[in-house]
Amino acid sequence: MTAIPDLQSFVYRHVAAFGFDPSLPGQIDAVAVGWLGSTVPRSGQLTSAQLAVLERVVADRHVDTGELGYHTCEICLAEVSGGTEQHSRVATIHEGRGDAVLCHGATYYVMPSMILHYVREHEYLPPDEFLFALDQVNRGLRQGSP
Ligand SMILES: [Zn+2]
Repeated sequence: MTAIPDLQSFVYRHVAAFGFDPSLPGQIDAVAVGWLGSTVPRSGQLTSAQLAVLERVVADRHVDTGELGYHTCEICLAEVSGGTEQHSRVATIHEGRGDAVLCHGATYYVMPSMILHYVREHEYLPPDEFLFALDQVNRGLRQGSP
């Protein structure tokens, strides 16, 4: 999959009719989060509340036909090709499809659904401003106004 540095602006295009919200524009000025290549830029742990919001975003705000399409975890791939059990471990390579969009204020954070795999399996820690957005969403959910 295409690696994009965290918080880099990019134009995200998808088929709006297939998204979680048909009113979401088909072309979005987006901010990239979690478009990792073969390395984890920052390691750490999300709080359980942040992880819960992230899981909800990936489940509820899923966009399937994004142009960046099908993702294979290059970190898993690098581990496999660098190891001795080259063939037996291929089945463990994680692949995912689709992207998710978190709207926060005027910002659209677009992430691959693979971000959950990166967080859980590779201890990827997203940028602070994105974690802050997750905290804000969590606070909104607790107050019953998502
Ligand atoms: Zn992986």
